[in-house]
Amino acid sequence: MRSETTPARPLGLTFRLDEVPAEGRRFEGALTEQSLGADLPGMVGDLGYRPTGPARIAGNVYRSAKTELVVDGRVTVGVGFDCVRCLADRVLAVDIREDHVLVRRKARVVEEGEESQTIDDEALEEPDVETFSGEEIDLTDLFRQDLLLALPMNPSCDDVGADDCRDLVGERAPDEPQIDPRWAPLLEMKKKMT
Ligand SMILES: [Zn+2]
Repeated sequence: MRSETTPARPLGLTFRLDEVPAEGRRFEGALTEQSLGADLPGMVGDLGYRPTGPARIAGNVYRSAKTELVVDGRVTVGVGFDCVRCLADRVLAVDIREDHVLVRRKARVVEEGEESQTIDDEALEEPDVETFSGEEIDLTDLFRQDLLLALPMNPSCDDVGADDCRDLVGERAPDEPQIDPRWAPLLEMKKKMT
């Protein structure tokens, strides 16, 4: 037995379940500027958000039971946008920390006559629980979703603490900007959370 242990190399956003020890392990990764560039423009009006670089992701992942992972991660990225009121070019510094519980999706054989219920159904009712199957875990979409949910729907100078909004006419921009319909379910979820 060694008296000293070398800290394990951090995992990426994709790893195998057996790479996560019970005491936890650090992970690090990023959402590339290119992938953000595909996700963000549809979020707000025709202009959308503009990534200023990759989103950095880092945190720790723990094994809480044989089939459960607890992920504690932080997402940091700067996203540019135009104020919905005065169109000033602003940059929102996103810095969020989120916890997630991941439960392994069981492929259970349902006996004849037995009520068809799997752990999957239970997990889906609990919004904070994500599922994975097999041995491979990919946190990319989890943090991508965290980031998208963290972005204001109508970003303005207020969101970056700027007090020089040039909203001289005092008229607010239309409350419902054109949003890419593909985001509708996500935005609906966001409305419920706020
Ligand atoms: Zn403004």
